[in-house]
Amino acid sequence: MIIVSACLLGLNTKYDGTTNAHTLLQEYSSLGRFIPVCPEQLGGLPTPRVPVEIVDGTGQDVLRGICSVRGEQGDVVTTAFILGAKEVIKIAEMVTVSAAILKERSPSCGVNCIYDGSFTHRIKSGQGVTAALFKEHNIPIYAEEGLTEARLNELLNNDGG
Ligand code: SF4
Repeated sequence: MIIVSACLLGLNTKYDGTTNAHTLLQEYSSLGRFIPVCPEQLGGLPTPRVPVEIVDGTGQDVLRGICSVRGEQGDVVTTAFILGAKEVIKIAEMVTVSAAILKERSPSCGVNCIYDGSFTHRIKSGQGVTAALFKEHNIPIYAEEGLTEARLNELLNNDGG
């Protein structure tokens, strides 16, 4: 099985109550090989919710306890982000997933880059909190951006189902 950010599969889990629906992933969802998860919801945050960014660090730094996840007005949601990431890993271990396909730039799900904490739509290299925890557990992560049909087929072929 492959974990996929729920918003990519058309679930309205995004902070503003909408989705990041991804056509190719939605087409493949009928194969029944994806597990949709939203770490921010699993961490107990409501939807809609305040948009947040990782400030002064990356997902790895949040897990190390050396930086925080917060909104522009100062709302701190670090604990919920760490809890959500741990819940996602519990799901991954329950069903033995082979990979995760995650939403790029999200402070939870970003694989290669995340918003830089300035709330100005700028990005920086680094992973979101859940993506970083996947990495710590040696579960391969892939961004939806640039995902081709060939790559997706390869991931499904490598997956035990
Ligand atoms: Fe999508 Fe991840 Fe944000 Fe949830 S936390 S809405 S799954 S990008």
